[in-house]
Amino acid sequence: MTTVAFIGLGNMGGPMAANLAKAGFNVRAFDLSAQALETAKSQGCDVAATAQQAATDADFIISMLPAGKHVRVLYVDGDAPLFEVIKPSALVIDCSTIDADTARHVAAAGAEKGIGFVDAPVSGGVGGAQAGTLTFIVGGSEEQFAQAQPVLQAMGKNIFHAGDHGAGQVAKVCNNMLLSILMAGTCEAINMGVKNGLDPAVLSEIMKQSSGGNWALNVYNPYPGVMENAPASKGYQGGFQVDLMIKDLGLAMDVSQQSAAPIPMGSAARSLFTLHKAGGNGKLDFSSLLQLYQDKGE
Ligand code: NAD
Repeated sequence: MTTVAFIGLGNMGGPMAANLAKAGFNVRAFDLSAQALETAKSQGCDVAATAQQAATDADFIISMLPAGKHVRVLYVDGDAPLFEVIKPSALVIDCSTIDADTARHVAAAGAEKGIGFVDAPVSGGVGGAQAGTLTFIVGGSEEQFAQAQPVLQAMGKNIFHAGDHGAGQVAKVCNNMLLSILMAGTCEAINMGVKNGLDPAVLSEIMKQSSGGNWALNVYNPYPGVMENAPASKGYQGGFQVDLMIKDLGLAMDVSQQSAAPIPMGSAARSLFTLHKAGGNGKLDFSSLLQLYQDKGE
């Protein structure tokens, strides 16, 4: 049986690991959170005491961690780096959204030991992770892309090969910058409509079927009560944290600076989300940006 080590069982990693177990993989899961481990166990995963224990002899090692520093420490720079225990024929699939430089650095460190690595950030949100319909955006060689297929297919629907190591991360950052702009615009438009007497659900439906239609309106409406399963209707809990969106917009700024590609809209979105975080909202879902536009006491 193919063994997959899964490190990082948060909002995204938890349901991704559960889908792998459901598809018949032997999943060895590890997270720093005891609660996340409990949930993974109840969903058919074996629980490991350490990341090293999970990764030893595994055929695939998947990580779904907050940022680049966590990925560097896990594989290369920490006290117990996984590249010390991963077998050479195994493939590391890092699904975290991180900077492309870290992805290239970790890929090169793995290559020195004969261990394959791909960056494979995802799109589709917690809903996509639960439904097994994520989009994977892969950076790595053709051979590594092919090797990753059986595992990625158990968690996703669309699997793209963006280019060599790091390319997956650049494409992902372009996408998330666009998403932040679309979410900010959607919040702005709905708030203005509601302030002028429109029903948010009716306005959302009109825009969805008109030229303003976009992903936020289709599956992630930011106005509470419009979409039953969206984070907005659950007190902006779960989903994709404001802090993580700010991290991604910081990555976009780095790419922009390194390549002299202008991103005026991305910069504006970053300022909006940072202002929202300054109000104590970093841990809320990013669609809570709507609150920045609303009158207090409304
Ligand atoms: P999260 O904060 O819910 O989960 C991160 C998990 O990693 C936590 O459970 C934490 O305990 C664990 N962790 C941190 N350091 C660890 C370590 N050293 N060893 C083991 N576990 C460790 O975050 P998330 O929303 O699941 O996002 C994870 C990644 O996916 C981020 O890079 C994010 O940008 C990206 N992403 C998130 C979404 C989304 O909608 N939430 C969508 C696409 C991509």
